[in-house]
Amino acid sequence: MKQQVIIIGAGASGLTAAIQAARQGASVTVLEHTSKPGKKLLSTGNGKCNLTNLTTPEGAYRGSQSWFIKRVLENITVEQTLEFFRDLGLVLTDRNGYVYPNSGQAASVLEALLFELDHLGVSIITDCQVQEIKKDLSLVTSKGKKQADALILAAGSMAAPKTGSDGSGYELAKALGHHIIKPLPALVQLKCREKWYKQAAGVRTEASVTLKIDGKTEAADRGELQFTDYGISGIPVFQVSRFAARGLDAGHKVTAELDLLPSMDFNSARQLLSERAKRLDYRPAEEFLNGVLNHKLARILLREAGIGSAGIVKDIAPAQIKKLAAVLKGLKTEILAANSFDQAQVCSGGIDTREVDPDTMESKLISGLYLAGEILDADGICGGYNLQWAWSCGILAGTCAGRGTSCGHPVTPDKGKRDLSGKHGQKRRMPFEHTVMQKKQGQE
Ligand SMILES: Cc1cc2nc3c(=O)[nH]c(=O)nc-3n(C[C@H](O)[C@H](O)[C@H](O)COP(=O)(O)OP(=O)(O)OC[C@H]3O[C@@H](n4cnc5c(N)ncnc54)[C@H](O)[C@@H]3O)c2cc1C
Repeated sequence: MKQQVIIIGAGASGLTAAIQAARQGASVTVLEHTSKPGKKLLSTGNGKCNLTNLTTPEGAYRGSQSWFIKRVLENITVEQTLEFFRDLGLVLTDRNGYVYPNSGQAASVLEALLFELDHLGVSIITDCQVQEIKKDLSLVTSKGKKQADALILAAGSMAAPKTGSDGSGYELAKALGHHIIKPLPALVQLKCREKWYKQAAGVRTEASVTLKIDGKTEAADRGELQFTDYGISGIPVFQVSRFAARGLDAGHKVTAELDLLPSMDFNSARQLLSERAKRLDYRPAEEFLNGVLNHKLARILLREAGIGSAGIVKDIAPAQIKKLAAVLKGLKTEILAANSFDQAQVCSGGIDTREVDPDTMESKLISGLYLAGEILDADGICGGYNLQWAWSCGILAGTCAGRGTSCGHPVTPDKGKRDLSGKHGQKRRMPFEHTVMQKKQGQE
């Protein structure tokens, strides 16, 4: 009798898990509570799907157990993931390390997965809400009861709930005894206190954003900063936003310093302003930063430095020039809140990874239950890292669940390695399995 694998969630991790489980010879069913599979995947990378990244900088992934995240990503690497997608017929393109389908369409990634699932005979049942999972891996769903030999919970987080990830996966895991690190929005805009944001709305400028929790630097990033009528947005804000959300949730004071001349140090900025003051001394004071920064922003910065709109540049005192340089190099703002899950691209927090085996993705609490993707306490920065996490978890969970052997608990970071060489009766060989096998043999 074939191993019966049921997967909850037809997102990035659930669909890759389904392919892998079916390739091991299992009979696979995916249950999805929306009307279509892969809704979130279609919206990734502005519809172009930044599916992974060729470099993984320090701090690209965040979560309570960083060793766990690292271990999963070592088990299924970026290169193995690229081979997985090439094998599905996707031609990939590398834009400075950011990897996209050459078609420029997220839809082609989803279609490649769906074609393969169809080819492997995987059944996807849509409009099927999973309401309860029992410890014997039986399920109560809106379309009746089901029984699995292995179950993969890949129901996503609470981010962008319109795409189907409404947080119900956390409740299912919680009912089975799993602990949830409070999910909070990440890769999201930040709301700020100052009134001047209304005037700055719409301005985009290169900047560094340094986030401080109770005055201590927690994270920093540089890129195109966007001002909105309520606060700050753009990639550098997204990258630090999870720390802001978590800091605020813990009751700390969260502030940010915006360096609006990030390519020069404070002394160079001050010198630049001093020279302008001499050369352009005839101009109206309110036009002093004309050509340096966006006009709307310039007015706000002059005001913050105490330079009034009346008078000419000649009237600006050297102390005010110094103050203006300080404002340009570190405009202070107080963060009041992160935007909601509706606007967030991902969540920080999720299922406590101490309760999951990083070599199989099997739960340490419930034998035969596997957990994959964003539902876990792991989040990445922008740039393809979150999808890579979903693919790595999905491939690993699907491979192990499809084989139907128990992984044995508990495992420690240095124990419990499993052979992923694909010898156990799978229908076809994964293109990357040689690599995995060699790596494992080399380690043993
Ligand atoms: C606008 C946007 C753009 C993004 N762009 C990128 C990008 O370019 N690169 C990148 O790396 N990451 C990107 N991300 C993040 C990335 O999309 C996610 O991290 C990833 O899709 C998570 O995959 P997942 O399978 O874990 O969850 P999901 O893709 O959310 O899939 C979970 C599935 O489970 C279903 N489900 C939930 N509960 C139940 C239930 N009880 N019963 C049945 N089904 C259920 C949901 O409907 C959903 O289909 C982006 C996210 C957003 C919102």
